[in-house]
Amino acid sequence: MSSESPTDRASRRTRILSNHLTTSDLQVGGNSLQSNICLSYSPPELHEKIEFEVRKMRELLDVHNLQDRDWLFGLMMQSKLFNPQEKGGKVFVMPDFNHTKEQQREMTMKRIEYLLERGVFDGWLTTRGPETEMRKFAFMETLGIFDQSLAIKIGVHFFLWGGAIQFFGTKRHHDKWLRDTETYRIKGCFAMTELGHGSNVRGIETVATYDPKTDEFVITTPCESAQKYWIGGAANHATHTVVFSQLNINGRNQGVHAFIVQLRDFDGNICPNIRIADCGHKIGLNGVDNGRIWFDNVRIPRENLLNSVADVTPDGQYKSAIQDPDQVIFSCCRFAAFLAPLTSGRVTISLSAIYSAQIGLAIAIRYALSRRAFSFVPNEPEVLLLDYPSHQRRLLPLVAKTYAMTCAGNYLKKMYVKRTPESNKTIHVVSSGFKAVLTWHNMRTLQECREACGGQGLKTENQVGHLKGEYDVQSTFEGDNNVLMQQVSKALLGEFIAAKKKNKPFKGLGLEYMNEPWPVIPSQLTSDILRSSNFQITTLRLRERDLLNRFAAEMSQHQSSGVNKEYAFALGYQLAEDLGRAFSDRIIFETFLNDEGTVSTGPMKDVVGKLRSLYALTCMEEDAAFLRYGYLSTEKAAAVRAEVAKLCSELRPHALGLVSSFGVPGAFLSPIAFNWIDSNAWSSSSA
Ligand SMILES: Cc1cc2nc3c(=O)[nH]c(=O)nc-3n(C[C@H](O)[C@H](O)[C@H](O)COP(=O)(O)OP(=O)(O)OC[C@H]3O[C@@H](n4cnc5c(N)ncnc54)[C@H](O)[C@@H]3O)c2cc1C
Repeated sequence: MSSESPTDRASRRTRILSNHLTTSDLQVGGNSLQSNICLSYSPPELHEKIEFEVRKMRELLDVHNLQDRDWLFGLMMQSKLFNPQEKGGKVFVMPDFNHTKEQQREMTMKRIEYLLERGVFDGWLTTRGPETEMRKFAFMETLGIFDQSLAIKIGVHFFLWGGAIQFFGTKRHHDKWLRDTETYRIKGCFAMTELGHGSNVRGIETVATYDPKTDEFVITTPCESAQKYWIGGAANHATHTVVFSQLNINGRNQGVHAFIVQLRDFDGNICPNIRIADCGHKIGLNGVDNGRIWFDNVRIPRENLLNSVADVTPDGQYKSAIQDPDQVIFSCCRFAAFLAPLTSGRVTISLSAIYSAQIGLAIAIRYALSRRAFSFVPNEPEVLLLDYPSHQRRLLPLVAKTYAMTCAGNYLKKMYVKRTPESNKTIHVVSSGFKAVLTWHNMRTLQECREACGGQGLKTENQVGHLKGEYDVQSTFEGDNNVLMQQVSKALLGEFIAAKKKNKPFKGLGLEYMNEPWPVIPSQLTSDILRSSNFQITTLRLRERDLLNRFAAEMSQHQSSGVNKEYAFALGYQLAEDLGRAFSDRIIFETFLNDEGTVSTGPMKDVVGKLRSLYALTCMEEDAAFLRYGYLSTEKAAAVRAEVAKLCSELRPHALGLVSSFGVPGAFLSPIAFNWIDSNAWSSSSA
């Protein structure tokens, strides 16, 4: 029992309580409430110095059609259709996140009509040449910055449907369909995937049988697994589709071919013998009406076969420039020729992934330059998030990668618009590798940015979290990333075998360096060496070269033990994926280095050089292959890691300039990138 009297106990309690009230309860983070009563927002521009010309850096990144891009940004900002919202004294344009799936689809279509009326799509299909194509790419990038659904809906119509008519069709198709597609009188979609077959297009089950009596093809969905699935535009709006189908002539299967089929009349009614169902709500991209299609013996004229690769005569004879479905011509078989439009899709997807990463980083970095947390010293102001070395380490390597990949995207675009029959293979391989690496990078970046914004990252209006849902599909459509990586490695292996068998030097895909002796990594990795482009390219090439040799050895080992080629590839998946990444990283690095070479000496070049080093060293740090196969010893790997941290702190003062150079107008970012206190004020919520 306590010996304390009730009076003593009461006075002791009073003493404790008054102590609480006068001292400890008023201490917040070491500061008195009096001296730190309220936070106020300070724009990063007020305290961050930008030491290079943002306009010049933007030119390095965006390269082409800067005025066209700004014009299109302006068009979107002017219209109520783009949902302008005032938050914290600033106007943002962003999709209405409370809209239902149906409302989102209708808004997407209305936005397209608005852009169409203002001439955004003029010449997209009826004019040819690199300039038109570069302008198209610039517009697609700009539209995607507003909303991925809008870009995808447009991409399906112009690049997939329109591209299929251009690539697989001949003059009669061009004359009949391209102008009406450009003006949206016809709304097209692209029906390749089926419920039962996605990546394996060769295995699709839809059948087109030629009927010489009526000069028609009969398109049939023979079973449920053959229903066309995920077809963008099919659920609500498309009037026509390109259907991919096995071609049956006199009982012989000639493989996959493409046909034009009308789905709806111009009043929107579904045509006879066609059934269409919705794919339902998705985790993102709900502004696109993905649908499923069944063809119940739909008859189409013979002329609807897209016949640039193969044709059928009225009496039912099959004619193809490429005799065997798998015959190799110009490094390309008949089946691969049918997949050509997917290349432009892969190019636009790679580019939009980069712009999405730019948006995420611009938001997260601007927030980290205005948000504070904890103090290092009692009674001192709290520290900006980006002044934490850990925060720099999380975000700045992603900025460096995004810079490098932006340059890579520009390289891919240029290569695509200047394509020739000889360069098609390189474009296919590079676009496959880039599509996988760039879209994976985007998803990783968005996740890191989301976390870097803390709870605010979870608010849909702050974009970063929302973008994750919108962009997730990029790793799957137009070639699943893992499957694409296998294709890259298969192509590299093909080059390797051809060079070794014929005892000829390597030529193409940038592999010429393999004709040189194996390089030696310096025994001491000083800071100067680590930052030298010579060391960086040598090390990245060493990895690619070694992985290719190992992959070839493994394939040959599997095959000599009796395993067939396809199964050997399946077994070699680990090296295949590592090799695909090593190839892509190396080309990305080369394109960045090349672009750095165009910058004149000065503060901007210094910053670009640091970004290039951070990109290369981060690649080395992240891939266990450098240690696993001994390209770097443990000491050297530690030196790389230390240099990454040093580069992050050196790039920290440039962070605002780096994200401002992305050229994304503030209206397309989000409230937390600006005055997040005012945008969350009571007056804003009740407005
Ligand atoms: C939102 C959305 C929109 C789309 N729009 C269209 C459209 O407009 N038109 C159209 O035709 N299609 C469209 N698609 C379909 C898309 O192209 C396919 O989803 C894609 O090709 C993958 O096919 P799948 O879904 O059947 O996956 P699968 O091919 O079944 O793949 C599933 C998994 O298996 C793995 N896998 C597959 N094959 C191999 C292999 N050989 N080795 C190792 N792993 C393997 C893949 O990596 C993947 O992880 C769309 C899809 C979505 C989600």
